[in-house]
Amino acid sequence: MNPQLMTRLRPIGYAGVVALVAALPWLGLDLFWMRQLMLVAMLGLVVSGLNLTFGYAGELALGQAAVYAAGAYAAGYVAKNLVNDVVLVMLVAACVAVLVGVVAGAPGIRLGGWMLAIGSFFLVLLVPDFVNLIGEPLGGYEGLSLIPLPQLLGVELDQYYFYVVVVVVTGAWFALFRNLVMSPRGAEFRVLSAGETLSSSLGVSTYRLKLKAYAIGAVPAGLAGAMFAYLDGYVSSTSFGLHTALLVLAASVLGGMHTIYGALLGAALLTLGPMSSSAFEDYSTVAFGAFLLIGGVFLPRGITPLLRNLLARLQPGRPVSTSTQHGSGRFAPVAGGRLDVSAVVKAFGGNRAVDGVSLVAEPGRITALIGPNGSGKTTLLNVVSGYYLADEGELRINGDEVGQLSASRRARRHIGRTFQTPTIPPDLSVFDTIRTGALKKEVGLLATVLRLPSYHRRQRDAAVETEAIMAALGISDRADDEAAALPLGTRRLVELGRALASEPAVLLLDEVASGLDEDEVTELAGVIGRLRTAGATIVLVEHNFDLITSVSDTVYVLAEGAVLASGGPLDIAQDDKVRQTYLGSGPVDRKRADLVDAYLGTE
Ligand code: ADP
Ligand code: MG
Repeated sequence: MNPQLMTRLRPIGYAGVVALVAALPWLGLDLFWMRQLMLVAMLGLVVSGLNLTFGYAGELALGQAAVYAAGAYAAGYVAKNLVNDVVLVMLVAACVAVLVGVVAGAPGIRLGGWMLAIGSFFLVLLVPDFVNLIGEPLGGYEGLSLIPLPQLLGVELDQYYFYVVVVVVTGAWFALFRNLVMSPRGAEFRVLSAGETLSSSLGVSTYRLKLKAYAIGAVPAGLAGAMFAYLDGYVSSTSFGLHTALLVLAASVLGGMHTIYGALLGAALLTLGPMSSSAFEDYSTVAFGAFLLIGGVFLPRGITPLLRNLLARLQPGRPVSTSTQHGSGRFAPVAGGRLDVSAVVKAFGGNRAVDGVSLVAEPGRITALIGPNGSGKTTLLNVVSGYYLADEGELRINGDEVGQLSASRRARRHIGRTFQTPTIPPDLSVFDTIRTGALKKEVGLLATVLRLPSYHRRQRDAAVETEAIMAALGISDRADDEAAALPLGTRRLVELGRALASEPAVLLLDEVASGLDEDEVTELAGVIGRLRTAGATIVLVEHNFDLITSVSDTVYVLAEGAVLASGGPLDIAQDDKVRQTYLGSGPVDRKRADLVDAYLGTE
């Protein structure tokens, strides 16, 4: 079928499935099974929040069960004492859940990794004590009972209509969740999971994004909490202990934590499967724990990807090309800026890794930094991009001092870079990876999940921009391939494309040629030459002396953190001091002639 038609029909098909599930009681579904499906929906909601924070954003936050409890207690209290309207109660429950999630998560997120895991885990253990401390309003250890039947606009809902509400709310959440995950805003979370260095180099403020993941992940847990409170009219802290925390984690791992609907699949398997029998209950905590260990080892990506692969095999596949076409396209004009580094010092303890370096990089010029291992090249790049603050000296871009800005600020305004080891998040296509370079241009969360017109406009603009970059790099035929799985040479081009997508004033390339074979280096020389012609300011850190002397306009030779020599590439190649320190006494490689050809062929 025509893919565009598929895109149009998708929401209709989805709504049809939700409507069908909602109508099941009128098609003969009995009360027992209605209850089972509601339990699946509730667990699935809680799990989907974990999939977002842990699966996609990589935050080991285990407090989802406590957030679920917060939603249930808030809903029970409000319905009983304040206002009993299912929509309002769910809204309040979601808000309280977000609050609890964020307040409990913020310190852990600041401290990072294990602190977050441990902190959020303690949150789960604290629930009963906290509830008891509040005492009467929440029912203490006895539990909060006599929660009234749900009402909607003043009309009491019987079990059947409550079931419909549960199905519709769950369906709506998963639609929005999908819209988030399958969007540039979703890609942002995957960028986060690839590490702080990458996210800040793409202009993402890591702390804020982590908090956002935590807040969004709390919403479905809050909704499920409200459903829980209404389902039996009773909330007790024993329902949200370690057992539930493990159940949620096990369902996430089983369904696949990097999935959307896998949350429902995992929830269904654990709710309806053999483990739900009462005989099993006594052993369930131990069993979930054992299951987690086994699942983590043998099924690290869960069941859903297995099913997906199976389905993909049944469908006729799209032909996948294996060759990389040679890049020969032109780059659109680039507005490069002037970089001034003056007398920069960066010391690690007593080791002055960068010791008073001054250099200038200009638009339409390639400025190279060479030097033996440990001479301070990467450290200098890290100072320029803002991972390290310089101890002394100044950094200016187009005359503006940028030395005090955070790395993500500098990235948003001025600097694009690639890494010595390509850093590409998993599960993103080449197209989507390159597009993450332009995160600052993407529309907001609300426009994204609701697919507002501004979202579709941005999709069209981004397609034009991203395709132009891929064409210029010669990787258009790889657009749909998973970027992280490509060969090194192509991954380096993808990283270069991602850096370009941010339209940087200064482009920093760290060891772009390392690990590439001769043909790939030749191709890269061509790409870099065309970028220069387009007007980019390129700072090239390179080990490969042939590449440097073939393409650069100015070369700075670093040794022990200081500039040993600088000048045109040919002068540098003939400089005795440089030859001794850097090249040893060996002859310059024969391949240089090819590189010069590839490079000159671009002008
Ligand atoms: P290059 O990229 O030229 O190989 P680097 O900039 O990586 O060199 O390293 C320069 C010096 O700084 C080396 O002596 C290295 O050990 C030291 N160095 C680099 N990064 C750190 C760090 N994070 N902590 C301590 N020392 C470091
Ligand atoms: Mg280095």
